[in-house]
Amino acid sequence: MRRRVTEAAILNAQSSADVVKWTCSHGQHAGNGCITCYEASATADPELPLWEVAAWFTTTRPIPIRALQDVHRHGRRFALDQPSTPLVYVLSGHVRAALSAEAVAGVVGFLLQNRHIVDDFTMTEIRASHS
Ligand SMILES: [Zn+2]
Repeated sequence: MRRRVTEAAILNAQSSADVVKWTCSHGQHAGNGCITCYEASATADPELPLWEVAAWFTTTRPIPIRALQDVHRHGRRFALDQPSTPLVYVLSGHVRAALSAEAVAGVVGFLLQNRHIVDDFTMTEIRASHS
């Protein structure tokens, strides 16, 4: 049985070592997202681990329900949900990547590519796991 790997970070209190760990190979912090990682994840090597990513963020304006539902139609196993707190959302997705930082950067990159869904966001917590 393979061991389950989980890596997570709270983003408002990161040490510089944490910042390095969560920076993708294109120099973007995972919490800011990376369009290159997002695009790379679409054609990732099937031998790479399949990460299950969750990223919590806040917005200054509510995201319309319709936009939340539209995310599912993009396919690629992404979802945007609203837990109970107003203006707090969780973006989740499954991507293949070598590192947790690139998996998260790829999922958050989805928001950068889809500014009509949310035009400003602040990531508060990220988590990536695979078995
Ligand atoms: Zn990247």
